[in-house]
Amino acid sequence: MYENLLERFIAYAKVDTRSDDSSYTVPSTHNQVTFALELAKELIRIGLEEVEYNETNGFLTATLPSNTAEAVPVIGFIAHLDTADFNSVNIHPQVHCAYDGGDIVLNEAEQIILSPKEFPRLRNYIGETVITTDGTTLLGADDKAGIASIVTACEQFLAHPERKHGKIRLAFGPDEELGARGAKLFDVDHFAADFAYTIDGGPIGNLTYDNFNAAQAELTIRGTSVHPGSAKDTMVNALLVASQFATALPQEETPERTSGYEGYYFLTSQSGTVDEVKQTYYIRDHDREHFAARKHFFTERVAALNAQFAEPRISLTLFDQYYNMRDIIEQHPVVVDLAVQAYESCGITPVFKPMRGGTDGCIISHKGLPTPNLFSGTENGHGKYEFVTLETMAKSVDVIMAIVEQSAVLSKTFQLEGIFSLTQAVKNRV
Ligand SMILES: [Zn+2]
Repeated sequence: MYENLLERFIAYAKVDTRSDDSSYTVPSTHNQVTFALELAKELIRIGLEEVEYNETNGFLTATLPSNTAEAVPVIGFIAHLDTADFNSVNIHPQVHCAYDGGDIVLNEAEQIILSPKEFPRLRNYIGETVITTDGTTLLGADDKAGIASIVTACEQFLAHPERKHGKIRLAFGPDEELGARGAKLFDVDHFAADFAYTIDGGPIGNLTYDNFNAAQAELTIRGTSVHPGSAKDTMVNALLVASQFATALPQEETPERTSGYEGYYFLTSQSGTVDEVKQTYYIRDHDREHFAARKHFFTERVAALNAQFAEPRISLTLFDQYYNMRDIIEQHPVVVDLAVQAYESCGITPVFKPMRGGTDGCIISHKGLPTPNLFSGTENGHGKYEFVTLETMAKSVDVIMAIVEQSAVLSKTFQLEGIFSLTQAVKNRV
């Protein structure tokens, strides 16, 4: 077991780095800067080079130089500094050694229990060291576990110079929890990696490169508000027009009624009066053509409703948020192949699941750096029942090191693409 991993993770978890959607600074909260600067000191202390905090985009980057004369790919590992929108003040991680499979009391006074009856996945971790909250905050293993695993892998390489590796680039960035807002400012050219991985992917085995295409629609519905006593043939009630629009969308295509590769329309917020209503929708689909068709359908529904009035009542602003990284990753299958080989060499079965959301990696992939997402070990993220095990984080360290070592075996003079026979197998699996 990696001796500093537990202590390192707990130290990171205790730091409040919650991001804030209502803030327009970069990063959205100053806590993230403080944490990045502390992390920078640690990276320098363990021997990493080119440790740089970029004030413009809030990314901390660093380099572990190559220790081999071979020309091998430069691989990046990326994790996010911020935690989700949930209480993160005074995080007290609790360590439960040799978990026995029963209830874990998070908070005696408030009787907050983490129970396998409610969370059956807990039973996967019997015998392991389970790290939980005290029931009052989130844990922030999403994504402090990712950061701890990446830093520990580099520390291991530095302690074992006989283990050969190419140049490794690290990036720790802000505001992933705000719709990957932070990654939009990531400087791919400065990072200068051949490909990268985010370590931000949930339970052991997860390997994700298939996420939603995403758009956001903002509707403003203009009513005509008059006294109800004299409203006949005059009033247009924006509230009713809004609900008419919402119910004109396919009622089976909502987040709560879809799974897997099924896309949806999601009414995320609504506010207003008879006079004016504002609605926000998310439009999601894994397939790029279906995504375009959904946006077209949505726009047509607006036009159809507008046609019912003497003058248009609904104005629509529709913009794309992010795209499926699969379109990029499929052009570079070796990036997934390397991860699959690494998982299998560590005794882990890769789990390919379409991701019903986005990641930093999908933004970064579409900036030109292929970046699938690998497991970090986090369970029940974004709330007080969040937990992770030391054993899974250690597996994440193993995987990072295996990816790096296996890539060092490849000479860059070979055509990297398609040299593994696994490539086709991976494609078929998804
Ligand atoms: Zn995350």
